[in-house]
Amino acid sequence: MDISIKKPTTALREAEVRVRNLVGMHVPADPRRGYTDRMEALSGSLLVGYKEGHRPSSPNRAMLVAGANRAQQIIRKANDQFAGICFLRKKESQLMQDILATHFKLIAGDDGGGTLDSNVVNQRLRLKKILQTDRRTVIEKIRRAMLSISFHLNTGIYLIDIDADHRDIKSGKGVDPANADHGTLGYVSAEKTSLDPMTWRAASFRWSSGITCGFRHGEIHVPLGRATEFTDISLAQLIIHEATHKYLNTDDEAYANDPDYLNLDLTESLNNADSYAWAAVSLYCKAVKAATPALAAADDFQCTK
Ligand SMILES: [Zn+2]
Repeated sequence: MDISIKKPTTALREAEVRVRNLVGMHVPADPRRGYTDRMEALSGSLLVGYKEGHRPSSPNRAMLVAGANRAQQIIRKANDQFAGICFLRKKESQLMQDILATHFKLIAGDDGGGTLDSNVVNQRLRLKKILQTDRRTVIEKIRRAMLSISFHLNTGIYLIDIDADHRDIKSGKGVDPANADHGTLGYVSAEKTSLDPMTWRAASFRWSSGITCGFRHGEIHVPLGRATEFTDISLAQLIIHEATHKYLNTDDEAYANDPDYLNLDLTESLNNADSYAWAAVSLYCKAVKAATPALAAADDFQCTK
């Protein structure tokens, strides 16, 4: 049984078009603002958006729910682990040290390209150290990022279908599905800052950076019809990766399956979506996942605990 509803934005657009037609105002030939027009709650914490007639299959819906639940669990656990170090002053486990070294290039004894005054594992807190930028400063920064993502994802996840084979409007602009990019597994659009008054298509964009409200960015898009190509953990990684773009304004400095990932420095890693996502997944799996580009290529789809 299809229990989807019309997207409120679609209903509003249709109402606006009716009013404009009544009073003789300009309406473009294609008055849609976006591509997807239906939304459906797949669970108590997962809402999905898709195009009418393109509802994901039952196995895909089941995997989307599993992936969303796993994303919530993984990011809660990551938040707990970082909070344990920052607030309860628990010692960093060897696994945590390995994850920080692999995914954030936070390597004991290294000064992060001159950004750290000191970098000592489990250093005792001393008053005179409080104003220094050290290993704990970085761990605290990562903790805040994990907390923010955990808050957002555990409040409820909204995923929109990429639907590359059919999508003819992407990020508010017209696109030709014949030229679809099937390599993109997820994306978050930049903020639309202006619309063409004649076509109602987006005319300019802005990607926020630093500490701003992530709601300026678009929603998380993933291929709803390809969910079963992933394990629940790999799908969770994708959701967390995209959530860092949306809520933390991260960039893709390098994907973990890219040889350049090994060359990222500390500063770049702290702005890199895959670094947070794979660190969180690794903590959940109790093993360093995506440890090399080759392993990451496999873990992108088939990561298991
Ligand atoms: Zn990305």
